[in-house]
Amino acid sequence: MTDLGDDVKCARCGEEVYQSERLRAVNKVYHKICFKCAGCDSALSLGKEFKRDGHPFCKKCYDSNYRVGQGNRVRRKKKEEET
Ligand SMILES: [Zn+2]
Ligand SMILES: [Zn+2]
Repeated sequence: MTDLGDDVKCARCGEEVYQSERLRAVNKVYHKICFKCAGCDSALSLGKEFKRDGHPFCKKCYDSNYRVGQGNRVRRKKKEEET
């Protein structure tokens, strides 16, 4: 299942993705222009995305939704630092 062939659909918009505009991230295929934060729609740079539940997020959304929660960093656990 590593060969994506010609029949590849964008994980975001569902349209076919040609090789020239293909971008692979979070184990999915996107149009380059469709690779955006699933939270706020801001453009993401490949490799800078934060993955959660199979969706890419920007740092801001990831932090506010999943990381700290209350916007309070006082109680940060070192155990959660694993990658
Ligand atoms: Zn797309
Ligand atoms: Zn975002």
